[in-house]
Amino acid sequence: MSSNTRTTLTFFNLPVSVREKIYRYALVRKLVFIRPFVSMAYFQDSSRKFHTDGPILSLLSTSKQIYKEAMPIYLTENIFSIVHSDMLTAARLEYPRVFENLKLIRRLELIFDSRDYVYLRQFILDNLPNLRAEIEFTAPDSKHKRAALERLDEMCSDFDVDGIHDASQSPRHASVDEDQETHDRHIENMKDYLWGRTLTFVRQTFRLTHLYVDVRACTCVNGCCRLADEVMSWGWFYVWVHGLPDEIQVRGASKQEMDVIASTFDGQLFHEGLEKEEIYDLERAEDAHGFKQYNALLKSVRQGIIERNL
Ligand SMILES: [Zn+2]
Repeated sequence: MSSNTRTTLTFFNLPVSVREKIYRYALVRKLVFIRPFVSMAYFQDSSRKFHTDGPILSLLSTSKQIYKEAMPIYLTENIFSIVHSDMLTAARLEYPRVFENLKLIRRLELIFDSRDYVYLRQFILDNLPNLRAEIEFTAPDSKHKRAALERLDEMCSDFDVDGIHDASQSPRHASVDEDQETHDRHIENMKDYLWGRTLTFVRQTFRLTHLYVDVRACTCVNGCCRLADEVMSWGWFYVWVHGLPDEIQVRGASKQEMDVIASTFDGQLFHEGLEKEEIYDLERAEDAHGFKQYNALLKSVRQGIIERNL
């Protein structure tokens, strides 16, 4: 070693095991929330400890070498809690590195809580009109613009139904046909826009060792029906491409629901010899390219709105 380098002591002179300790201290928590959506189960349940001190992610951008050493620790050792996958879907399309990173996540928590649907619905109803107007008046005319507007109108009418009763109060039974229709519409929305979407994304993306599922509040919006025994089969991509999680823990299911959940997972094991239609919904996949264009347009307009509101 020459004399002019001998006196230089840097972070990287520390033994790897010490550097890893530092990374863990900064980056590993009991639970990491995939924002912007954190389940109401954490916000509204005072008996659960809600940690606001998240991992210190700025550490990852201090140097290339730190990123290379610390990122796998962050991704493989934390449990990530995910409610809604749209931000991740958009990021995955745009940044290949995000996709590579997501594939390193090994532990995931999925909470199915009807209050998250109620929140999402309100958020969409509040923001959709602006988004629609923005596209209508600023985007140049194209078939993607027309498709996006059509899709937003569809979304608006899907969500623009009321009949939500506070599920934490006593359950209310839908009595007349109209109520029943509204009730079923909300369940369809839960499938299409929230839990079915998230499960589709999760099955396509992750190779998990541990999956934690919480179905304690997995009910319709009125609390009159439990959905725990069907929710794990929602989504248009049916199998776990990278294999089933090694261990699945389910919280809040009855014995009967557990049996259904277990057999649902068995049926989602990816193996050679599956027919295409056993893997995904063919009709839905045909639309995938159109969806991509539509998502790109939505994303740019939404970004514009967010920046102006900051
Ligand atoms: Zn119900």
